[in-house]
Amino acid sequence: MKNLQELVRLNIWSLSPYTSARDEYQGKDAKVFLDANENPYNDPVNRYPDPLQRELKTRISQIKGVPADTIFFGNGSDEAIDLMYRIFCTPGKDNAVAIEPTYGMYGVCADINDVEYRRVLMDENFQPSADKILAAIDANTKLVFFCTPNNPSGNNIDRKVIDKVLDSFDGIVIVDEAYIDFAGVPSYLKELSKRPNLIVLQTFSKAWGMAGIRLGMAFAQSGIIGIMNKVKYPYNINLLTQKRAMEEVMQYDRVKGWVESILKERARLMAEFAKLGCCIKVYPSDANFFLARVKDAAATYNYLVDQGIIVRNRSKIALCGNSLRVTIGTVVENNALLEALCAYK
Ligand SMILES: *Cc1c(COP(=O)(O)O)cnc(C)c1O
Repeated sequence: MKNLQELVRLNIWSLSPYTSARDEYQGKDAKVFLDANENPYNDPVNRYPDPLQRELKTRISQIKGVPADTIFFGNGSDEAIDLMYRIFCTPGKDNAVAIEPTYGMYGVCADINDVEYRRVLMDENFQPSADKILAAIDANTKLVFFCTPNNPSGNNIDRKVIDKVLDSFDGIVIVDEAYIDFAGVPSYLKELSKRPNLIVLQTFSKAWGMAGIRLGMAFAQSGIIGIMNKVKYPYNINLLTQKRAMEEVMQYDRVKGWVESILKERARLMAEFAKLGCCIKVYPSDANFFLARVKDAAATYNYLVDQGIIVRNRSKIALCGNSLRVTIGTVVENNALLEALCAYK
């Protein structure tokens, strides 16, 4: 890997970040806080939240088995994705490379930041070729995005491909593990300590059941995390989100229970879906959703909408012609889907 200073944009590297009142004073035992122009009434939301979310990081560090200074929290993983571009990519000059098809936000954030986005088409089993990815990389490539399990295809990406890119590319490799809890393969978090160019993304939006509080995680060696902390909004994670996430991490067994039920339902729903008259193929899934090719995706989608059931029509996406993406719901929800589709010609 190039050294971090070579990879980071000059203006970001030399940035002196905003220091908030709560950055300057970090102790907890003071009784009187007259430093941040807060209103003394309306406790506890009158107070600014911890800008570095230390309590939550301590607990997540235990759960994930990584040091607290390798954790960044964002307003969803989407904040971390946007930060990657803002930190590493000079607009109009640098570029990012990603597997295709994949999560749409990598491309949208590239467009917003005026960064060229190079899509490397996978094969029909949704596996990428390391050689094709390396061929798309040039001297201005700063980021390579993998998503595993991949959205919208649902499968784990071949580890050998990711490892080869991590070994050969001298820029930053992002491995988005939004669905890792459903995947049955080891997380790339275990690789962090030996891979300075790796950034792993995870989220509270899927297995943790907290899409509504907007909390995403990025993991990287502490040098990169330090730069992310410099660039983020000072209080990017609000007090209510930190509190609600703390409650959930204290009862992590609940999350494990949900994952178990979803995995059981995934097996059942995929098997039943494959038998439907409208279904041509169910693709393998390592996530909490699956992709299915059907005879007429638009017609099936519209029929389901009429029944009050919403799935995602992914037909316009590369390699996903006539394909629907179906999230695994509760037993009752999944049965509603199956019953509706059984009644559909
Ligand atoms: C759902 C999803 C996320 C989560 O995004 P948040 O902003 O954390 O809600 C990230 N990456 C992928 C690939 C996803 O499908």
